[in-house]
Amino acid sequence: MRFSQSLIPTLKETPAEAEVASHRLLLRAGFIRKLTAGIYTYLPLGLAAIRKVETIVREEMNRAGAQEILMPMVQPADLWRETGRYQKYGPELLRFVDRHERESCLGPTHEEVITDLLRREVRSYRDLPQNLYQIQTKFRDEIRPRFGLMRGREFIMKDAYSFDVDDVAAAESYQKMFEAYKRIFTRCGLEFRPVEADSGAIGGSFSHEFMVLADTGEDTLVICSSCDYAANSEKAAVAAPDPDNSPMLDLEKVETPGKRKVPVVCEFMGIKPQELVKTMVFKADEEPVAVLVRGDREVQEVKLKNLLGVADVEMLDDKAVFDATGVPTGYLGPVGITIKLVVDQEVAAMRNFVTGGNEKNYHIKNVNMERDFEAFAVADLRQITDSDPCPSCGAKLGMKEGIEVGHVFKLGTGYSTALKAVFQDSNGKDKPMVMGCYGIGVSRIVAAAIEQNHDENGMIFPMPLAPMQVVLLNLGLKDEHITETAELLYRELQEKGIEVLLDDRDERPGVKFKDADLLGIPLRITVGKSLTKNGVVEIRLRSDGTTEELAPQQVTARILELINAAMNNG
Ligand code: ATP
Ligand code: MG
Repeated sequence: MRFSQSLIPTLKETPAEAEVASHRLLLRAGFIRKLTAGIYTYLPLGLAAIRKVETIVREEMNRAGAQEILMPMVQPADLWRETGRYQKYGPELLRFVDRHERESCLGPTHEEVITDLLRREVRSYRDLPQNLYQIQTKFRDEIRPRFGLMRGREFIMKDAYSFDVDDVAAAESYQKMFEAYKRIFTRCGLEFRPVEADSGAIGGSFSHEFMVLADTGEDTLVICSSCDYAANSEKAAVAAPDPDNSPMLDLEKVETPGKRKVPVVCEFMGIKPQELVKTMVFKADEEPVAVLVRGDREVQEVKLKNLLGVADVEMLDDKAVFDATGVPTGYLGPVGITIKLVVDQEVAAMRNFVTGGNEKNYHIKNVNMERDFEAFAVADLRQITDSDPCPSCGAKLGMKEGIEVGHVFKLGTGYSTALKAVFQDSNGKDKPMVMGCYGIGVSRIVAAAIEQNHDENGMIFPMPLAPMQVVLLNLGLKDEHITETAELLYRELQEKGIEVLLDDRDERPGVKFKDADLLGIPLRITVGKSLTKNGVVEIRLRSDGTTEELAPQQVTARILELINAAMNNG
């Protein structure tokens, strides 16, 4: 690939809209361009990196016995109605009507389509197991598309679906995919961790996420310091505390004029946040629901969503809270509350706490759940912290940020039952197929790789994902010897199957060096003045900046060696 003839529109300035490194660098390096919110064009180098991920994914899926297919992106609403997800999926599902008034949607995931296929094609236990996958563009109308390829509305996913005769066989399929995923992310050259996860809108009983560890990750992981427990904090169970059995004191109304926020109320009343209980109001689908948690805790929205069995929960703003309860935020409390109330288990174990007084400028002291209010449910509803014990062994927990790049689910028979995807077992009896589903965010992996591997000068691609393996700088376009040598190396490297970007632009050396760093190509060869002076060219590693000088004839063999050493062939 010749730089002078390629569309690699690098930028000197950092685009203002980009908040995270991968987004910034993908734009600056000319890998992607935005068409509209959450929708991007992949330029030649961006696409080359994506193809690298796809190839690794494809090879490992095939190796694990999965078969590649390609399903449609447009899906009929009626199929989604059969599983109930047309209503349940929420606004991320883009719905539309075609010229014949047929309702359709753009596939955010393909459980319905694949199960429809298998219910038509599979008759007997002899036709199972099946594991089918595709690599395809998905559409999810994300509420906040952001961070470039990290959370797009349109993005590339690998999704696989397994169908088995029973739970034991389904567990084997799951395990096979789990192992394949470990190989995939290892081969990609990423630092990752599988964690226990919530099953979310896809449904199902059991799941793991594969997380790339990076500070900008949107997910928080809890990792035990002692046992092998690791989980998404959305899922991590908080142990129920022992109940406080101190005697209940009498309720006492306290005037707290203008004191609304936890620290302010605490200071005013001379109490600790641990003695106060916050009342937070969420919109659960359409219904307002109040949630009680201790003053220093956060509500874990996924736990709340699962408890209420709704598609979506969202915190209400001050006005909406007032409209729903008649009480200004900051003064809301459980005593006499008029909307549905759910309580974190920790609060249920507390005695004599402070809450809002359900009246402007008042709080109440010595509130006790047992005596003073009733709840719709008591459950584990708060976000785990690193001072909570490990849910599995009780040891100390550590927290890390992660980017979800893959997700494997045991689905069971939910979809096959709803869609009547049955097979005849060896006794001639109809049984629902037992399913699993397995996603990988192909385009997100490129972003995650950059989040994990970059410096102030640009991206630093791990060799297996690099769009090009070598960038070859010709620093003497007008010098015959230099240009001949660079051209010769370019041909020689390509003949060996090495991917080379030849920077043959009429630009200053400084510009070429800067762009080479920005693009993150793992190996750089410089042909310039040292050739004229000492007969050598320079090889430099983008990762650690080490350089070596050698004669042009030695370059190709050395580059091959360096590439082989840097590939994680698994
Ligand atoms: P998230 O929690 O990040 O929204 P999800 O749980 O909805 O993701 P899955 O349904 O498990 O995602 O999809 C499989 C994979 O697709 C994810 O592990 C992730 O890598 C990728 N993915 C999901 N949503 C997006 C998106 N909006 N943009 C890019 N990749 C995505
Ligand atoms: Mg997921």
